[in-house]
Amino acid sequence: EVRVRFAPSPTGFFHIGSARTALFNWLYARHTGGKFILRVEDTDKARNTEEALRVLVEGMRWLGLDWDEGPEVGGDCGPYFQSERQPIYDEYLKKLEAAGRTYEKDGAIWFKLEGERYTAYDDFKKAEVEKVKTAPVVIDDAVRGRVERAEEMDFVIVRKDGSPVFHFVNVVDDIAMGITHVIRGEDHLSNTSKHVELFKAFGVEPPKFAHIPLILKESGPGKMSKRDKGALIEEYEQRGFLPAAVRNYICLLGWSPKDDREKMDIGEIIERFDFAGINRGNARFDEQKLSALNAEYLRELEIGSFTFLVRPILAQAGVITEDEDEDYLQEVLKLAQPKARSLEALPEYVSYFFKDAYPEDEKTAAKIAKKTDPKVLIAEILPVLENAQSFDADSLKSALETHAEQQGVKVFAYFPALRFAVSGQGGGPDLLPMLEVMGRDRVLGRLRAFSR
Ligand code: GLU
Repeated sequence: EVRVRFAPSPTGFFHIGSARTALFNWLYARHTGGKFILRVEDTDKARNTEEALRVLVEGMRWLGLDWDEGPEVGGDCGPYFQSERQPIYDEYLKKLEAAGRTYEKDGAIWFKLEGERYTAYDDFKKAEVEKVKTAPVVIDDAVRGRVERAEEMDFVIVRKDGSPVFHFVNVVDDIAMGITHVIRGEDHLSNTSKHVELFKAFGVEPPKFAHIPLILKESGPGKMSKRDKGALIEEYEQRGFLPAAVRNYICLLGWSPKDDREKMDIGEIIERFDFAGINRGNARFDEQKLSALNAEYLRELEIGSFTFLVRPILAQAGVITEDEDEDYLQEVLKLAQPKARSLEALPEYVSYFFKDAYPEDEKTAAKIAKKTDPKVLIAEILPVLENAQSFDADSLKSALETHAEQQGVKVFAYFPALRFAVSGQGGGPDLLPMLEVMGRDRVLGRLRAFSR
């Protein structure tokens, strides 16, 4: 059975790179029918706070990445916090001691490599050091292919203060938790030869490794850091992105199906996810692509769900009040949804449907004024709309068309001024359905005020 783990060190942020590592492990577990384990590598006491854990757990839940073993859900290989696993580390340390693979120096416990020892000058340390000639470790990486690397220096596994070092606890836990595949960022590739040496010393076959490419920032070199816009999962939640869209986008950071499709439901991604589809080259973060994908997901929502999602956002922005009429809200959103690019932009986009005080777009005003005096035009068509049989889009259209014919102009000649007079905008949803939704009183009231 496949057993994979996401092993974050909580930092207080849920970075998109970590989320991607979690996601790929989760996808692999779901694809293979294996287990996805959450293990918290919280040995750094200073950074390990409740808050840091909360950010992580909430971020994973928001993305829908459920774990089969770990904090809150338990499991047979717990505890799932490294800070609570000291007895297990003590026991494994004894195994290494018994095998003669440790020694003490400067108060720390060192892991001893096997091989011929010699002294050499180390440029970095600017001193003579003891090196070891070892057989190179061969990693048959599922993404990178064959990677060879020889460790040549013993390394510390327990610090002077008694705290165990990352390499040691990471390997011990992978053994104790029966991990079969280690899927992690390429930045860990340089640690893997140390890890494989430890697995060998414990007499355990190492798991299969898959080192996934880095995520580069939007432009320029360098990987995405937590200061870059779009780097943190909590930010997407705050900005009203849909978790399914964000998750879909993150899947594409370093993985693609053979036919290069982008928008896929998660069931399909799970079915198609495998190591062969993971790219070797670095992925580049692309906010526009993410926004476009998010917009597609938004447009697909049922109007009821869309309204449910949007109501608090509009209330928060002060566009509607708590008791805004549900039917009117839904009719407005039916018009806005097909045009919505993001939930962030929505309050501004629909504000004039609800509020009589809205800004007038100056460019549009200038453009319209070049052709005609809009006040005069609106005064002319006001009675046409007042006398329309009913206030639905079709009736309004035929009333305006009849009038336009009499005047010898095209009906579209009225539209820009009409739109501007009721909304202050140059663009928006289709005009006549919009007038219908706004309703007779609101529209005529605004036109009268405008033509005065
Ligand atoms: N705690 C390590 C990290 O967050 C885990 C690395 C690994 O997946 O093995 O980078």
